[in-house]
Amino acid sequence: MALPTKIQLEIVTPDRALVREEVEEIQVPGAEGYLGVLPGHTPLLATLKVGELWYRIGQEKHFLAIAGGFVEILPDRVTILAQIAERAQDIDLARAEAARKRAEARFAQPPPDFDFERARVALMKSLVRLQVAARARTRA
Ligand code: ATP
Repeated sequence: MALPTKIQLEIVTPDRALVREEVEEIQVPGAEGYLGVLPGHTPLLATLKVGELWYRIGQEKHFLAIAGGFVEILPDRVTILAQIAERAQDIDLARAEAARKRAEARFAQPPPDFDFERARVALMKSLVRLQVAARARTRA
């Protein structure tokens, strides 16, 4: 059987279907590290961490910020069920910057009931949003 040359990519969150595209390559923020996916990839199920996702159509890369969820990889199909996902161009930069400042302040002066893991995730989400939003501006 011939190997597939394209991947059908779907990215959905609990409230919307964000991406449905035929793509050539994807990089997914897997909990154990970034996963590079080309057509014909071995089937795989993985959880997602807070990170940057990109997919490539021709020469053009499209970037999203992702926070948690699952990915199902099949040779010709990738489905992302993300808790949170935002396209680079939809990220509110001022909001992400404010979230980063709040998160950093919490680390600088931890409150008595400091929840380290929650603070770490909030900081990571703000940093990934800032990084992904910057990609939208530079068209990397
Ligand atoms: P904040 O502290 O600014 O509210 P948060 O990390 O607590 O951010 P989330 O719980 O991750 O926010 O997300 C809540 C909703 O707001 C989601 O739908 C998410 O996509 C959206 N959202 C959060 N921050 C941004 C942003 N900077 N730009 C665009 N959408 C955002």
